[in-house]
Amino acid sequence: MAGEPQDDCLFCKIVDGSIPATIVRETETTVAFRDINPQAPTHVLVIPKAHHKDAAALAAEAPGLAADVLRETQAVADEEQLESYRIVFNTGGGAGQTVWHAHAHVLGGRGLAWPPG
Ligand code: 5GP
Ligand code: ZN
Repeated sequence: MAGEPQDDCLFCKIVDGSIPATIVRETETTVAFRDINPQAPTHVLVIPKAHHKDAAALAAEAPGLAADVLRETQAVADEEQLESYRIVFNTGGGAGQTVWHAHAHVLGGRGLAWPPG
């Protein structure tokens, strides 16, 4: 069911602590942790604690929670003192999504080309 933890989900396991992560922020509804394979000096993932498979599902199933995630991306950018940064929600395999638990990438600390390719 939407929002319920999934046994086979890596990010649900980070939420429940059974897989370790370098957590930089946590709220009642979200966790922010460093990406294991950083693509920029700052590369933090912000996730809802509840399982929703991608950003589209999160927005449709729990819009308030989607707002929490977005607010946290801003908090991460502030904490990391990022002047310019990029928030990315890869949505679907063709866009590079590999983990099927909604997550926002916060990328910064270097120049970021646009369009991204
Ligand atoms: P996606 O490709 O789905 O948009 O992003 C998934 C991200 O999760 C990738 O950037 C990948 O490096 C990161 N990732 C995959 N496995 C782990 C892990 O075990 N721990 C952490 N911290 N990040 C992970
Ligand atoms: Zn999950």
